[in-house]
Amino acid sequence: MTTPDRRNARSHLFYQTDHPRPVLDRAEGIYMWDTDGNRFIDGSSGAMVCNIGHSNPHVLDAMRRQMDKSTFGYRLHFVTEASEALAAKTASLAWPGMDRVFFVSGGSEAVESAVKLARQYALAIGQASRWKVISRFPSYHGCTLGALAITGYDSLADPFLPMMQVMPKVPAPRAWLDGFNPDDPATGRYYADLLDQKIRAEGPDTVLAFILEPVGGASTGALVPPAGYMEAVREVCDRHGVLLIHDEVMSGGGRTGKFFGAQNWTAAPDILAVSKGFGAGYVPLGAMVARGDLVDAVLAKGGFAHGFTYAGNPLACATGLAVIEEIERQDMMANASSTGALLKAELTRLMDRFPFIGDVRGMGMLLAFELVADRDTKEPLPPALKAFDKLTEQAYSRGLIIYPRRSRGGYAGDHLLVAPPMITTPAQVGEIMDRLEPALA
Ligand code: PMP
Repeated sequence: MTTPDRRNARSHLFYQTDHPRPVLDRAEGIYMWDTDGNRFIDGSSGAMVCNIGHSNPHVLDAMRRQMDKSTFGYRLHFVTEASEALAAKTASLAWPGMDRVFFVSGGSEAVESAVKLARQYALAIGQASRWKVISRFPSYHGCTLGALAITGYDSLADPFLPMMQVMPKVPAPRAWLDGFNPDDPATGRYYADLLDQKIRAEGPDTVLAFILEPVGGASTGALVPPAGYMEAVREVCDRHGVLLIHDEVMSGGGRTGKFFGAQNWTAAPDILAVSKGFGAGYVPLGAMVARGDLVDAVLAKGGFAHGFTYAGNPLACATGLAVIEEIERQDMMANASSTGALLKAELTRLMDRFPFIGDVRGMGMLLAFELVADRDTKEPLPPALKAFDKLTEQAYSRGLIIYPRRSRGGYAGDHLLVAPPMITTPAQVGEIMDRLEPALA
């Protein structure tokens, strides 16, 4: 199979780069076809979005039913049955007390909403000195200037540094890179102590919140927190009166085996952001979910000064509800755990054959492997080698879509996310490996 180049000499459409890509025709389950009839396996669910697979009939039916009723009601004029029902369902999936839901249309919007709610809560309770949002390096929280200010990814942030109030960062808990045992609770405590030190250095009464991705996404490549980390972070935040925000934009929606990734541990956040798998590729949809008392305090002090025009769009909300119904009806989170474990074992097996695979990590259907020049020193491959581009191309030409990113903060460290839809079967894991292994070779 060849990768068709259907790009016009100069298309009107543009994205980050003008690299050629096929023209999508249709998609079903874990497969996508281009207009030349080539079939691809969606090995990364787009960008970890199409969690329930493409063209799910129950979801498409729900969308048609909602379209026959209404497709837009401005949030300040109407609520809808769909928006109320999805809010209630989402709250029921979150932690007790996190019972208020604010709809948005994407991940960056969800993160910005979380940060702005935190700030307005601090103002509401008379803590105006708190404004710093500590995040981790590397991390990805979105591309808008506010979300970028808390994103730890230099290649994306550097051009805009003069335009942003860049926020403090602490190291992401990359035990594999730093040479610690991820199963030892002392490791989680160590990284949480770095947060504690950072809060003290900044001045606790200036720190508003700490934001983390429970299971890392594009920036760290499916980084699973070391033992004890999530609980120790919660404890550090509580000690300093700092709000804890979970960015579940990628880890939410079920692919870690729980609806919210952090539910694999015990500590609850105060606010969370979700998107991607929430609309599952059917509609642009995201949400901020917050502790009810935070929202009540903000609303009591004159309201939440924030909002997006498409928020709570009834078509998006009816679709989001149908997505969750399908996840539950087909027990997809259980499949993400069991078939994900099989896929992870297959990826781990590749380490025997390919010495340049330095680490395989992740949980459920959010998996990644890291390419290194040397497995012992963990030195990254030289960027000039363009391993990232070559591997993507090799997989593409074999009909497999994967998701490469840079793991060392944007300029080096190739890793590949392997994150097919949660409906992937064990036989389809075989199909993925049949394409991935020769691509690596
Ligand atoms: N947070 C995380 C963890 C993400 O992975 C992403 C998208 N990759 C975002 C935020 C931003 O989401 P969006 O692209 O929908 O704005």
